[in-house]
Amino acid sequence: MITQHALPSYLNPEDLGPWGQYLQQIDRVTPHLGSLSRWVETLKRPKRILTVDVPIERDDGTISHYEGYRVQHNMSRGPGKGGVRFHQDVTLSEVMALSAWMTVKNAAVNVPYGGAKGGIRVDPKTLSRGELQRLTRRYTSEISLIIGPNKDIPAPDVNTNEQVMAWMMDSYAMIEGNLSTGVVTGKPISLGGSLGRREATGRGVFVVGQEAAAKRGVAIQGARVAIQGFGNVGGVAASMFAKAGAKVIAVQDHTGTVVHSGGLDVALLHQHVAETGGVQGFPGIEAFLDRDAFWGIESDILIPAALEQQITAENAPLIRTKIILEGANGPTTPEADDILSDRDVLIVPDVLANAGGVTVSYFEWVQDFSSFFWSEDEINARLTRIMQDAFNSVWEVSQDKKVTLRTATFILACTRVLQAREVRGLYP
Ligand code: GLU
Repeated sequence: MITQHALPSYLNPEDLGPWGQYLQQIDRVTPHLGSLSRWVETLKRPKRILTVDVPIERDDGTISHYEGYRVQHNMSRGPGKGGVRFHQDVTLSEVMALSAWMTVKNAAVNVPYGGAKGGIRVDPKTLSRGELQRLTRRYTSEISLIIGPNKDIPAPDVNTNEQVMAWMMDSYAMIEGNLSTGVVTGKPISLGGSLGRREATGRGVFVVGQEAAAKRGVAIQGARVAIQGFGNVGGVAASMFAKAGAKVIAVQDHTGTVVHSGGLDVALLHQHVAETGGVQGFPGIEAFLDRDAFWGIESDILIPAALEQQITAENAPLIRTKIILEGANGPTTPEADDILSDRDVLIVPDVLANAGGVTVSYFEWVQDFSSFFWSEDEINARLTRIMQDAFNSVWEVSQDKKVTLRTATFILACTRVLQAREVRGLYP
């Protein structure tokens, strides 16, 4: 019998942010967990939370302080794993939720990791390259107490990339006095990174998109695809759908929304974004829309690939699509989830749809340990197989139990986590 004591304030079940969203998702899966539901409280509390002060010297000689976090949500199935986000809106609630979704995601695709996540509340656009490097190195030093190739392995997330991972790896190597490439994934190829890692999340979104489209009788050829976010996830997914013959009819990013019912030229859009920093001002389109109007665009496939809580009770009734592929983490609130599911929109949840990134992170980590590197074809083939198998296992559970794909993914994943929890037992 596990008794529940008063919760610390940061675990407030009334939390309206991403952590509250995650807790509601756990409540929905609990009735399906049978005798394992005895252990469910373990999923409602992160195992370990580290908050750190990150001071850096600015180029003008002043000192700035930033707040950083590393949250290890669960490590029952393996070391912590999950990205690091640099964004001005990062909060502890957000990092806790993102770490918990990593636990579910890693179990859903059955890679041997727990869930973790990190972040710094900073707008990296306000920093020079030197300042960004100092920020990354100091943050790594502050969290070096709890990360390591067998403890917790960071990776890129929003506004972090291969260069940031290289600085993290180097800082950790300097502190430890030995080169351990496996401490982070998403590294440059020249430093033990994996082929295919950069495209892996977008590729995974595309693979589950094909599976979902087949179930819904939507042909990819000619399908109308609308995408929010044109970064490492949305941008890659856009290219893959376009290459497969779909029409990318709308893209929204932090600068604006571009629309073309005949299909945007995705390659040219990439070029424009590389040159100008965003989609705004892209020539040859039908319309620039205001932010909210994006959700009313009729499509066959909608891909939210930006931040959390974008699809809400307010805009969900406007959405006219058949399939939603959650490239972002946590883009749909539970209320919006219900509105859309009642209207028979098929939602492939984040913890399944965007698991391609961490899957190839796992391949990278395995390659680093064995110092034996695979070809890109081999990586992509393995990734495709894992994503297809995970989708089909989730699909079966959803048909069998008559639940949404989100609840089905949580049933599969939470069962795996709690089985490990139960068989390990409590220490001491
Ligand atoms: N940040 C990515 C995610 O949210 C990848 C994490 C990883 O590769 O560890 O899934």
